[in-house]
Amino acid sequence: MTEHWIALTDLPAHGREFSFADQEIWHEGWRSFGMDFAAHTPLEAVFTITPQKDGFLIRGRLRGAVRTICHRCAEEAVLVIDHVFDEFEATTDMHGEDAEESHLRPLDAGFALDAAGMLWEQFVLALPVQILCSDSCQGLCPRCGVNKNHESCQCTKETPLARALAARGFSTPK
Ligand SMILES: [Zn+2]
Ligand SMILES: [Zn+2]
Repeated sequence: MTEHWIALTDLPAHGREFSFADQEIWHEGWRSFGMDFAAHTPLEAVFTITPQKDGFLIRGRLRGAVRTICHRCAEEAVLVIDHVFDEFEATTDMHGEDAEESHLRPLDAGFALDAAGMLWEQFVLALPVQILCSDSCQGLCPRCGVNKNHESCQCTKETPLARALAARGFSTPK
């Protein structure tokens, strides 16, 4: 994965704002995780990093849109991302179990943050469990496979038994 380190030295006490518009981290992430995503509207992140006694508070927003596949009808879906995040990166446990999850790296003086890794995690958290081309997507008919957004089929008048059989991959006896 692409890394993009930001040195967190001499941050003012009230924090500093960063913006991140490099699209390469998304393309590389989608490739390496085999995710069916493509660019639509560039993903841009703006976040403020505020130093705390034992870590850094990172508050920001990730916005943009990606092209992907509808989970219900398998056609293209545009997923709008507008994700607000509020993260804490602790500097206290850099060697224990939490260290692997940390996006911080100690420097000679202070710390650096892997902004690409932190934002990639936010992107994944922003994904809904089910991605739909539209809230009213009718999906595919489980029996004949037509896309019910575009055409209707004769299977709709089926009985509850036929529907139960079809859902389990069996055909209705003639
Ligand atoms: Zn759909
Ligand atoms: Zn059908």
